[in-house]
Amino acid sequence: MCIDCSRLSRRHFLALGAAGAVACHGIMPAAAQQTAPTPPNAISPDDALKRIMDGNARYASNISANRDFSAGRMARASAQYPIVGIVGCADSRVAPEFIFDQGPGELFVVRLAGNFVDDGGLASLEYAIRFLGISVVLVLGHSGCGAVDATIKVLTDSLTLPGHLPELVSFIKPAVEAAKHQNPTDLLAAATAENVRFNVAKLAASEPIVKPSTQAGKLKIVGGVYDIATGRVNLV
Ligand SMILES: [Zn+2]
Repeated sequence: MCIDCSRLSRRHFLALGAAGAVACHGIMPAAAQQTAPTPPNAISPDDALKRIMDGNARYASNISANRDFSAGRMARASAQYPIVGIVGCADSRVAPEFIFDQGPGELFVVRLAGNFVDDGGLASLEYAIRFLGISVVLVLGHSGCGAVDATIKVLTDSLTLPGHLPELVSFIKPAVEAAKHQNPTDLLAAATAENVRFNVAKLAASEPIVKPSTQAGKLKIVGGVYDIATGRVNLV
């Protein structure tokens, strides 16, 4: 993205989508740049959150919408208008589009084992907030999370992990330590919820894009835990 592109207003960039980059370089006719229709994802944070939670209720009740995921492919080629950003775990059982009964183009998903926010994930979310117009970011933990469980074992059983896994543990460790201080009956569940809350707080305090967007009422940061057995997401 060039410097001139970054100076485009959010609304302008949203309206033009991928074509905005072309317009920015002076290729698109001026008339096209001046007509900026309201993008389809321009809904309030509360409405966006309701949309995905309604979708989760359908999924948990086994009444997900019948979707042809190839439908609308051509229309999606020129731009994307996601409504919600998801910070999810890489766990193969935690696929956000299924869990929230959403189609392609509706969720902007960042996934790492342990659903934490690192610099790359934060930059990705900043892009979706500033240039794609998402109005909610949901940090999504889940039951039986192996990354959180491994972090607990590292801290309590002196488990040593191979390769780059200690790097991953370093992001989850603060939440596990906080949960341990609560002496919960179920440390894994408590640490999973604490990890969600920790990353929600980290995101909400993030400058210079996330925090000002939340203060302006354009963005909500929320957390939830997905129960693999029931299919339900409970906000925490
Ligand atoms: Zn996990």
